[in-house]
Amino acid sequence: MRVLLVEDEERLANTIARGLRREGMAVDVVFDGRSALAKAAVNNYDVIVLDRNLPVVHGDDVCRELVARQTMARILMLTAAGSIQDRVTGLDLGADDYLPKPFALKELVARLRALGRRAVAPVPPVLSVGDLTLDPARHAAERAGRDLGLTKKEFGMLEVLLAAEGRVVSAEELLEKVWDENADPFTNVVRVTIMTLRRKIGDPPLIETIPGVGYRI
Ligand code: CA
Repeated sequence: MRVLLVEDEERLANTIARGLRREGMAVDVVFDGRSALAKAAVNNYDVIVLDRNLPVVHGDDVCRELVARQTMARILMLTAAGSIQDRVTGLDLGADDYLPKPFALKELVARLRALGRRAVAPVPPVLSVGDLTLDPARHAAERAGRDLGLTKKEFGMLEVLLAAEGRVVSAEELLEKVWDENADPFTNVVRVTIMTLRRKIGDPPLIETIPGVGYRI
């Protein structure tokens, strides 16, 4: 899942980003509203975590603009103010969810997963093909009941491939959804990770390479 985090308190932003990356999410961070709009225009995010009280362009205006652009990303607003009026205003602007500060990282993660499932096509909470199952909430990937012992990137890749339900996924799309903008676009990290993922999945093989196009399950 690819997340854009918009939060002007840099230390808080970096702490949240670290926590989300530990959960296997690809996270880009910006510290003001204008940068948020610029990033959202060039990258496909599953969820945008948007602090409400932002410098340069206020979070409410960012939200309004994202909704006007008909962005595919789901929007989760963060705010220091937890009154019902604030909540109603945020949702009125078109946000999909709302989380008052302070919050537990665990709750943010749970809400992001729920929103991610609602993004684009609804994805079932547990993904499976044949005897392989992947449960993002439990961070568990098993084949015939055996834990595959995947790294975070392998897990993220398998999640994207399973969610595509047989559609071919390009290496570029995998790089964008599983790594973040700091990933080197010329890297062979996708190819290498597919190799280790295949080895762990074992036989019979499930991931097919479509030469020049990408991968599919
Ligand atoms: Ca703020």
